[in-house]
Amino acid sequence: MTSSVTEAPSSGLSEYTGRGIYLHAHGKQYIDCASGTFNLSLGYSAKEVVDALHAQLDRCLHLSSDFTREKSLEIFEMMREFLPPHIGAFWFRDITGSGATEGAIRIAQKATGKSDIFSLFLSHHGQTVGATGVSGNAFRHRSFSLPFANSVKIPAPDCANCFYSQRPDRCGMLCATRLEDFVEYASSGQVAALIVEPVLGNGGNIVPPPGYFRVLRETCDKLGVLIIADEVQTGFGRTGSFFASTGFAQELRPDIITFAKGAGGVGIPVAGVLMRPELDVLEPWEHSTTSGANPLALVALEETVRYLRDHRVLENVATVGGPLHQGLTDLARRFPNVSNVRGVGLMQAFDLPTSLDVQSFIRVAREHGLIVRGSRYGFGRTVKIRPPLIITPDEVRELLVRLSDALRTYER
Ligand code: PMP
Repeated sequence: MTSSVTEAPSSGLSEYTGRGIYLHAHGKQYIDCASGTFNLSLGYSAKEVVDALHAQLDRCLHLSSDFTREKSLEIFEMMREFLPPHIGAFWFRDITGSGATEGAIRIAQKATGKSDIFSLFLSHHGQTVGATGVSGNAFRHRSFSLPFANSVKIPAPDCANCFYSQRPDRCGMLCATRLEDFVEYASSGQVAALIVEPVLGNGGNIVPPPGYFRVLRETCDKLGVLIIADEVQTGFGRTGSFFASTGFAQELRPDIITFAKGAGGVGIPVAGVLMRPELDVLEPWEHSTTSGANPLALVALEETVRYLRDHRVLENVATVGGPLHQGLTDLARRFPNVSNVRGVGLMQAFDLPTSLDVQSFIRVAREHGLIVRGSRYGFGRTVKIRPPLIITPDEVRELLVRLSDALRTYER
């Protein structure tokens, strides 16, 4: 069983050209509502970023991380205006989100001297062995024998499918407070950290209810458990603030933040970990890779931060996110096939009925010039709408018209 649906027509790479939010292929133009693999935060062609990459290509393609430490520090200083004051250290030696998860696990374990890493049901934190072990989607890995032993998956804050069958207005936020029971009875008692996606991404674009992050933070403080915010999907402006945990999820006050995907702006792989200064415990040899902190990755990271700042991209997400959500809500009123519209900023989603195959909808959307991705797990059959953060209000309207045309084909 696959969890996301990504059929693309196969042909040579020269068939594909990307401009802004559009992918051109086979004589057709698509609005890319998947932002590539949720990583093209600035679309396909943000000029300043691409120009800086070209310039770096002409200088050199690789430098060992010994030589790029100063550049990493400069980038961290530039990022500071977007970070909460308690975050004071960084580790920019990863190129994938999975690598960043591994780094965060190492940091949490070394700093606390404890072993267990808790996470949420249906969470996804990467494909490497450690990252898979702390992901709440073990069903994807039944063919392997991976070490899940030190990771307990707690119920997700999914009010539409409450694990405890509670009503949201009188639930006592059991999904956060019961962490205490899991630590007490289902773990070794040595819990280093809880890793949380502020919006459960692959798990169905689940947005926690107001108050969840505050109660979760209080519970973790009481238990002496660190919080890792996995901002691989939510980071770099996706939800309208630099990180979700500096915006709608700020009450989470994570001790450690991981990022990847959108950090490379136009699709260059780069990832990293941010943390409280006292958690800066790793020796360089304890978590580094051949291509970590390579020049292209760092140029992409630096220019993405600069572009977000100079082009006021976060403000744009706030401006267009509301109309996109409203437009999807209007579609839910018009089309019985659309329900449970949810999301923050430009991280939106809706469910299709179980009678309608997500794969088939994705194909129909393509015919109407839209690239969307689905998620078959979680409880709904989710279609995710996450265009590049530079989308304009006119382009949002165009996206909604194409989506409406795609939905209309099921009414004939
Ligand atoms: N964390 C989250 C929330 C993700 O969505 C992903 C990738 N889908 C990862 C970690 C792993 O990132 P990567 O694929 O770059 O290893």
